[in-house]
Amino acid sequence: MAEICDVCGEPLDENNVSRCRICGGRFYMAWSIDAPVEKCGQAWFEERSCSLGFICAPCINENPQIRRSLIDTGGTLP
Ligand SMILES: [Zn+2]
Ligand SMILES: [Zn+2]
Repeated sequence: MAEICDVCGEPLDENNVSRCRICGGRFYMAWSIDAPVEKCGQAWFEERSCSLGFICAPCINENPQIRRSLIDTGGTLP
C-alpha cells in the first residue's frame, strides 16, 4: 500500500519523501529542481541541535519563528 503525503494527500514515492521534525508526518519533498510538485515542506536548520531537518508546511504555519531558519532548497541539495 502506497503511503500518502500528510500535507496534500498525494501518493508518496520513496525518492521524494521527508519526515517532519515536529509532527513526524511524512510529506512530499522534491529533491529535483524540475520535479513538478508543490512544496509540502521545507528543509530547516535546527540551531539547537545544529542539524538539518525537515518541516511540513502546516507546522511552518503554526510555528512562524521557524521561517528564519528555513533553507531555500532551490536546487542546492543533491
Ligand atoms: Zn504533499
Ligand atoms: Zn509537521
